[in-house]
Amino acid sequence: MFAVGGLSRIGEEMDRLGARRALVLATPEQRADARRVAEILGERHAGVFAEAAMHVPIETARAAVAEAKRLNADCAVTIGGGSTTGLGKAIALESSIPILAVPTTYAGSEVTPIYGLTEGGLKKTGRDPRVLPRTVIYDPQLTVSMPKQLTATSGMNAMAHAVEGLYAADANPITSLMAEEGIRALAVGLPRAVARPDDIEARADCLYGAWLCGTVLGAVGMALHHKLCHTLGGGFNLPHAETHTVVLPHAAAYNFSVAREAMARTQRALGAKDAASGLFDLAAGLGAPMTLDQIGMRASDLDRAADLAVAAPYPNPRPIERGAIRKLLDDAFYGRRPGPLS
Ligand code: NAD
Repeated sequence: MFAVGGLSRIGEEMDRLGARRALVLATPEQRADARRVAEILGERHAGVFAEAAMHVPIETARAAVAEAKRLNADCAVTIGGGSTTGLGKAIALESSIPILAVPTTYAGSEVTPIYGLTEGGLKKTGRDPRVLPRTVIYDPQLTVSMPKQLTATSGMNAMAHAVEGLYAADANPITSLMAEEGIRALAVGLPRAVARPDDIEARADCLYGAWLCGTVLGAVGMALHHKLCHTLGGGFNLPHAETHTVVLPHAAAYNFSVAREAMARTQRALGAKDAASGLFDLAAGLGAPMTLDQIGMRASDLDRAADLAVAAPYPNPRPIERGAIRKLLDDAFYGRRPGPLS
């Protein structure tokens, strides 16, 4: 459901799912949002579990599953970003109860069957139709509170799904249309949302773009960019959306000469001169962090990151070569603007 103020109709949506006892999930920072949902749900709410954390630590997942069982919950309501949606997915994976997701960032997890769980510092991801939320409420009002930096980086994270979706090995004409439109909607919405966080039309454009980009992520396979971000996030504990923001222009530059059509479509959707520098300039204009250095990477770890990134093969338009990947990481570390590409 897309609606300004749509959150107030969450009870009806729960009824539609045939559920009566919701466990409401959030991060500790969004506990107040979870309480608001619980209030709207009234008797339909069984409890609040506001312990969601980045990358779904297995201990948190186990505690949430136990809480859902203890309360006899028959659905999970998630209000928050990808971390909170991810915790709902961990419960659904274990118990098959439906998820009603209320996203408050642009991560897109609410429309994918992809889950992640982190155990002993290692994040494992998988796909399972049981974790795909059954209902999603997109309410732009809930994104107004996003800090400017999260607005910018979360939006670039969404765009990354679409850029990689355009050159995915299993892309199809429909996912490519969605990807292009998703990039376009975010490119017009993000600068306005960052300039005026309470611009509801801009917020609606961004959320619409995030839905499109997330749907692409759920439908087709990702490549170099997502692999690199997964390596950097999991192996070096870098923050998720920021890492996507810094790496994306460089991953696009890496694939530029091979993924011609995808790059032409990205460039068109951005209204830029070329895809890689267009992504770079958009992120810079939003005031997002532009270097791996700024977001916690150490120069001395770049070699190990390159080794990890080339260790296992994965699909990508341009072959993965250690030297070129090391250079990409160097460019991302120092935030060099991709030069003119042809
Ligand atoms: P997040 O969910 O970790 O949120 C970051 C912080 O911002 C949290 O403290 C959160 O409470 C807060 N926040 C969220 N929305 C807010 C709002 N509107 N106002 C104020 N604060 C708000 O960040 P994220 O980038 O949305 O999600 C990242 C996680 O999602 C990663 O673990 C990533 O792997 C996962 N993810 C999964 C998929 C998938 O398909 N499975 C897709 C994208 C991301």
